[in-house]
Amino acid sequence: MPNRQQENQPTKTCPVCNRDFTWRKKWERDWEQVKYCSKACGKKGDVLAAKDAKSAK
Ligand SMILES: [Zn+2]
Repeated sequence: MPNRQQENQPTKTCPVCNRDFTWRKKWERDWEQVKYCSKACGKKGDVLAAKDAKSAK
């Protein structure tokens, strides 16, 4: 059976891979700032954001 505790954890949806990810202990200090499920997605997201910023100019 899955861990019941997880049901009480907040979740977010990663804008890069569109998967839901769950709060982790390592994010307890900056959960508000966490946008991506993983470092890999964070990199991709940063690249996309940079592109957006450039094309918006
Ligand atoms: Zn992701």
